[in-house]
Amino acid sequence: MSSYQKATFLLSVANLTQLPPDEGTEIAFIGRSNAGKSSVINTLTHNKNLARVSKTPGRTQFINLFTLDKTKRLADLPGYGYARVPAEVREQWTDRMEAYFQERECLKGLILVMDIRHPLQEFDQNILEGSSQCELPVHILLNKADKLTPNQIRQTEQLVKKGLEPYGKLVSFQTFSALKKDGVKKLEHVLDQWFSIK
Ligand code: GDP
Repeated sequence: MSSYQKATFLLSVANLTQLPPDEGTEIAFIGRSNAGKSSVINTLTHNKNLARVSKTPGRTQFINLFTLDKTKRLADLPGYGYARVPAEVREQWTDRMEAYFQERECLKGLILVMDIRHPLQEFDQNILEGSSQCELPVHILLNKADKLTPNQIRQTEQLVKKGLEPYGKLVSFQTFSALKKDGVKKLEHVLDQWFSIK
């Protein structure tokens, strides 16, 4: 059993001030809604209930925290969907996320989930800008890889590689399928590395 399968729900917070003490190591998951972030968390933790918490009505804008052990946590960050979200709401959300990236000392990395068929949307670019400003490492999951042919995957990987050039070494990516459970080992390896940073 991997340590990620020991994840248990800790708490949901509406504001950054309600987060647990800034100690140990936190790794956060973020993604445009419907990219499959909840499915990724389920696949990683083998626990269907965890990410379900984040989908509870009224809690979709909360940060949900899961404990792996005394010093290690996963944070499920709120996202938003499509362009019809008012600009004001988008800006507020971006400010909140940037504050979390900047102020949270125990945050060692960000897993950014994208639908491989729609990579590097404006949402994702905003996240990449915000995280690169505070030198926060980001690992991108190109999820739903089962929806594309190997050839389409290769083409997308090339496009994404090119699109990520401006961000340098702090940003990496891999293909993933939460549905087929493909890419879990690689993801665990990245998380293990981040959790071992002192
Ligand atoms: P979230 O809004 O980002 O948390 O997305 P969900 O995890 O709720 O997934 C959104 C939709 O995409 C659901 O219908 C999932 O079943 C589907 N989905 C998620 N991951 C995958 C995947 O790897 N492959 C396929 N084919 N569908 C997926």
